[in-house]
Amino acid sequence: MKQSAQTLGLYIHIPFCKSKCIYCDFYSLPSAEDQMDRYVAALCRHLVETAPQAASYTVDTVYFGGGTPSYLGVKRLRKLMKTILKHYHVARDAEVTLEANPDSLGDWRAVRALGRAGFNRLSLGVQSADDEELKAIGRIHTFAQVQQAVAAARKGKIKNLSLDLIYGLPGQTLEGWKKTLAAAAALEPEHLSCYGLKVEEGTPLWQRQEELELPDDDLQADMYLWTVEELERRGYEQYEISNFARPGFFSRHNMKYWTLAEYAGFGPGAHSDFGGVRYAFERDLSAYCAGVESGGEILSESEAIDDRERDREYLMLGLRTAVGISRKVFENRCRMSFAPVEGVLERLESAGYTKRQGDDGWRLTPEGFLVSNQIIGQVLDALGEEKRRREEAAARGDYRVR
Ligand code: SF4
Repeated sequence: MKQSAQTLGLYIHIPFCKSKCIYCDFYSLPSAEDQMDRYVAALCRHLVETAPQAASYTVDTVYFGGGTPSYLGVKRLRKLMKTILKHYHVARDAEVTLEANPDSLGDWRAVRALGRAGFNRLSLGVQSADDEELKAIGRIHTFAQVQQAVAAARKGKIKNLSLDLIYGLPGQTLEGWKKTLAAAAALEPEHLSCYGLKVEEGTPLWQRQEELELPDDDLQADMYLWTVEELERRGYEQYEISNFARPGFFSRHNMKYWTLAEYAGFGPGAHSDFGGVRYAFERDLSAYCAGVESGGEILSESEAIDDRERDREYLMLGLRTAVGISRKVFENRCRMSFAPVEGVLERLESAGYTKRQGDDGWRLTPEGFLVSNQIIGQVLDALGEEKRRREEAAARGDYRVR
């Protein structure tokens, strides 16, 4: 198929899990196998119906996230990939990721079959190398199963493997986290995502947080800073707050979110930023299937994003990454002075939270990543103040202010 310069990522949400982990607030249903076939049929239909809108794009990343996509089984996953490959212009070297859990990945033959279907990257939910910690958060696999799944992935010829870990688990010590990180690194993944445990409202963890011994903020910060140092020592580059990769193995799909590139999501709860519109679908499997089947409404939100909002997002998302933000890019896209933003970043430089990068760029340091929300808040305030100043000047007819 002819390749287009415009690129697009596809996100396919698979809202099924064998059981719910106590910290999880993703949209996923436990024990709903009986709904899988209907859901796959609805997804295929939705993909086919949306394809004409993507006719001028080359799809360079496809990401099956969840939920637990591997729980869907090879046959259904193959059907979905076949539909995508038939109806979209998928680049030959597209990154095609499957999120998997160790208990549902299957053996190396299953992995090989997934590879033949087009999947070339696996993201495995590991979370901890300590079976007691896994049990405490409701994970239904052991670390031995993680090791078996990694062996199956390698034997099945997966050359791009990512492991997800969580620090700050109930009862976890710094030593315990160090052991988990060492055990995960020993599996030699190309990519690691390390997230601090978040207690989300409405989850069982939220209700039980008092009784569980959760590491405090200081201990979580120590775990994070140690992670950054240790993974760098082991040859992993930190390219985003929580993401680390061997050279050349950044997640191309996730980079789309942080660089304001276009992506189209499918499935209940999936978000999109496509054709200048940000939209999402209802977090309700039955409503999604019924809507697709009948041609009814499935959107839960839809908003055209104006340039002003994109300017803010360039700063917010750029400061999450190691690439950071650039004066030239900012001034070209926002058509206003970088000085107020730079003023904030300069003030934080001596405290070790920010650093200059290249000729005209800035990024946060690991210490800055730890307090990124506060820093981004200060930067956005400075940007808002500058915009107000320009608007007031324009209202006075003073166009020399830039
Ligand atoms: S496996 Fe993942 S998506 Fe499923 S319940 Fe656990 S954390 Fe949530």
